[in-house]
Amino acid sequence: MDKVTFSHHSSFRGIPNKEIVDEEINNTLQLLATITETSVDEIYIFDTNTFYFLYINKSAEKNLGYTLEEIRNFTPADIYIKITIGNLKKLLYPLYSSDNKFIKLQVRLQRKDFSLYYAQIIIKKILLPEREYFVASVTDTTQQVILQKKLKNLATKDSLTGIYNRHKANEIIDEEIIRQNKYNSRFAVLMLDIDYFKSVNDSYGHDVGDIILQELSKLILQNTRKSDRFARWGGEEFLVILSQTTAEGAFEYAQKLANIIASYNFTQVSVLTVSIGVCVYKDGESKAELLKRADEALYIAKNRGRNRVIFKSNDDTVRS
Ligand code: GH3
Ligand code: MG
Ligand code: MG
Repeated sequence: MDKVTFSHHSSFRGIPNKEIVDEEINNTLQLLATITETSVDEIYIFDTNTFYFLYINKSAEKNLGYTLEEIRNFTPADIYIKITIGNLKKLLYPLYSSDNKFIKLQVRLQRKDFSLYYAQIIIKKILLPEREYFVASVTDTTQQVILQKKLKNLATKDSLTGIYNRHKANEIIDEEIIRQNKYNSRFAVLMLDIDYFKSVNDSYGHDVGDIILQELSKLILQNTRKSDRFARWGGEEFLVILSQTTAEGAFEYAQKLANIIASYNFTQVSVLTVSIGVCVYKDGESKAELLKRADEALYIAKNRGRNRVIFKSNDDTVRS
């Protein structure tokens, strides 16, 4: 009789008439089936032992491109990217011992046509008298994820060159300072400024100047290690942040980079040179102090005739 409370219809409440009860249950089941079938969210039901799909609703059929018949040959691991059946069993393990828990996953699903979509999935175990099931409710979050990526890009990347912007460079240095204090992982900073860039603009126009900024960014990016980060610090000023690098390593790298740039054939101007100030982070110094030393080194490089690298060591001695 407990099941009667399932119903929204109470006219028979308290009347133990089996026919009415059966009809009410039937109606309720019909209603639930219709809600499930027509739900905007994708609903997947799969076996708790074999993990094979038993049911998917219309929304799921439509997005995935598989029919209910076809999907019965698959488990979630076949359509969740980067999740094996072993992973999935581990992830869902807590559900076996509890009827209240649910597991929330952010995954990518592969459609029948091999295209992918992002989804948030909530998986619960449903226990019926005879059998238990895993029920996954899937929300397609592709539009949200794309928007988030766009926003992140806008916040961290420079729109002209596509490299990191000043805001992100500041964050990277903050993180490196924390790493240095924690793991004693030394890092170096190269502050790089194009020589006589104003005359490039004056002679060839601002548009050519922009193209050169793009070319230079690409060239430097091609000549950095994966662990190094490269950002546009200002108009024609750039920062390269070298992780786990010695003074010697940073100085040699900066010289190599200056030579690569000086021998590159840029659009229209052909020859373009840069001046670079280099320093290695000194224990206890602030970000502002570090950047000031790099800037001072760059200033010396400009004063000594440009197209050169100046290294300012931790005791402020200068090397060129
Ligand atoms: P120096 O060798 O002393 O660095 O000389 P410089 O001419 O490069 O230095 P200055 O700071 O006098 O001029 C920098 C120029 O960079 C001025 C500005 O017009 C140009 N610039 C800054 N940002 C951009 C940009 O986004 N696009 C273009 N085309 N030019 C820019
Ligand atoms: Mg400048
Ligand atoms: Mg300049």
